[in-house]
Amino acid sequence: MRGAILPLCLLQAVFLAVGISQPAVLSDFAAARKRMVEEQLSAPGRDIKNRLVLNAMATVPRHEFVPESLRQFAYWDEPLPIGYGQTISQPFIVAFMTEQLNPKPTDRVLEIGTGSGYQAAILSRLVAEVYSIEIIEPLAKRAEAVLRRLGFLNVKVLAGDGYKGWPEHAPFDSVIVTCAPDHIPQPLIDQLQDGGRMVIPVGPPGDQQLYLLRKNGTKIEQQAVLPVFFVPMTRKTEAEDRP
Ligand code: SAH
Repeated sequence: MRGAILPLCLLQAVFLAVGISQPAVLSDFAAARKRMVEEQLSAPGRDIKNRLVLNAMATVPRHEFVPESLRQFAYWDEPLPIGYGQTISQPFIVAFMTEQLNPKPTDRVLEIGTGSGYQAAILSRLVAEVYSIEIIEPLAKRAEAVLRRLGFLNVKVLAGDGYKGWPEHAPFDSVIVTCAPDHIPQPLIDQLQDGGRMVIPVGPPGDQQLYLLRKNGTKIEQQAVLPVFFVPMTRKTEAEDRP
């Protein structure tokens, strides 16, 4: 009899723990964010070191950029679906790419692939201006609305094709691309300020590398810094371009 009571008590304890921890996780997004930073970003082996980047990751509410039904997973180190076959990037990748840009408070940054707007929000805390282009119009509109509502007012969103960049606002101190082309688009190199940095994943799904590119005069230096997995950078067909 005793043998049967003990497992039952254990089971009750487990249910109690789950019952208590579940609402706590849902209601305490700030604590979950802090844990994400400590356990997934600055932990040994992950090694994100830039204090300003870590601070942005610890304060920007990622749960506001994911669908309501997935908010309890917002601070897991995972990409999550945001509709239209697209995903919000994994927090570690967002932190890693942002750190690679070495952002400065006076920088003007071009992002290709707004998606949820989360990466743009992180940059918004660290630089002067963010220009972000998204090819799927409803995603561009939604990201713009979320960014506005949350007060990220130095981010401008354009529904359009990132292959062209945003010549009206060039040159940019840095460029961050969050979808993967098969080669680095020339307009993005042209629109990068001399001395500027670009981070861009290149290659087909399953065989992509994240490149860090530096522009020094006419010289372009590039190095592969991390194997990654991003959605392909799409091209508009000519038919779609016609009015
Ligand atoms: N940075 C995003 C994640 C992006 S997912 C975030 O923080 O949530 C990649 C995005 O790139 C998708 O939304 C996709 O629609 C967009 N994309 C793909 N090709 C593009 C192109 N040619 N121009 C602009 N955006 C593009």
